Amino acid sequence: MKVLVAVKRVADANVKVRPKSDGSGADLNNVKMAINPFCEIAVEEAVRMKEAGTATEIIAVSIGDKSCQEQIRTSLALGADRGIQVEADNSIQPLAIAKLLKAVVDKEQPDLIILGKQSIDGDNNQTGQMLAALAGLGQGTFASEITVVDGKLNVTREIDGGLQTITLSLPAVVTTDLRLNEPRYASLPNIMKAKKKPLDVFTAEDLGVDVAPRLTTVKVEPPAERAAGIKVESVAELVDKLKNEAKVI
Ligand code: AMP
Repeated sequence: MKVLVAVKRVADANVKVRPKSDGSGADLNNVKMAINPFCEIAVEEAVRMKEAGTATEIIAVSIGDKSCQEQIRTSLALGADRGIQVEADNSIQPLAIAKLLKAVVDKEQPDLIILGKQSIDGDNNQTGQMLAALAGLGQGTFASEITVVDGKLNVTREIDGGLQTITLSLPAVVTTDLRLNEPRYASLPNIMKAKKKPLDVFTAEDLGVDVAPRLTTVKVEPPAERAAGIKVESVAELVDKLKNEAKVI
C-alpha cells in the first residue's frame, strides 16, 4: 500500500505570531517554523502503518518555496521514504494546493492520501475535502482511528457529540484529528539518514496546474485584547453585574 502524506510548513505552534504593520499578513521574519501539527500526526500514522506491514512506501509532499524542503526532510527523518516538493509561493491558496496535490496523486497513484484536518496558520480546513472532490475519492475527515480491513479502510471520525465510523474503498483521502496518535520525535541517526533520501522537485507548470489566487486577503489583525477580570464581593453583586452591566441574564 502506497501512502502519500501532505505536510505543510507553518509557524511553530509555540510561537506568538504578530501581524505585519501594514496588515497584509503574518510577520514570519525570524519566526521558528515547523511541520503543521496535524501533518505530523499524518506522517506518524503512515509510519505506524508501514511498521505494521500495511504500508509499503510513504511519500511526503509539501507545496511551497524551497524552505519547505526542511519539513519534507523532517518527514523523511520520521520515516517517510521519499519526498516531493512542488514549488510555489507560500501564499498559495487551498484550492490551488488541492489541485497540485491531485496532480501528484495522478502521477503517484497512492492507495491512501493522509492530510492534516487543518493548517494552524490559515485554519482553512479545506484542502483534504477539495482534494477528495477533485480526485473523485472517498474521504474520512477528522480521523481519530484508521484501520485497514479486507482491503477497505475503516475510519473513526470525531464529530459533534461523538464518534462516527465509516468504511471507505481505497484509494481514499483521510484527514487527521488530534487523537489519532502521538507523533514521535526524529532521532539523530534518522535525521542524518534523511539527508540521503530522494526528494524530487516539480513546478506547477510541470504538473499543468493553474494556481491563480481566487481569494484576496483584506486585512490581518490581532484579536482584541481581553479586558482584565474583576472580583466581586458577593453573589448579589455578581447577579447585579450580570444583569445590569453584562446584560446576559
Ligand atoms: P488547510 O486546508 O489549509 O487547513 O490544510 C489542511 C491540510 O492540507 C494540511 O494539514 C496539509 O496536510 C495539507 N496542506 C495544506 N497546505 C499545504 C501545503 N502548502 N503543502 C502540503 N500540504 C498542505
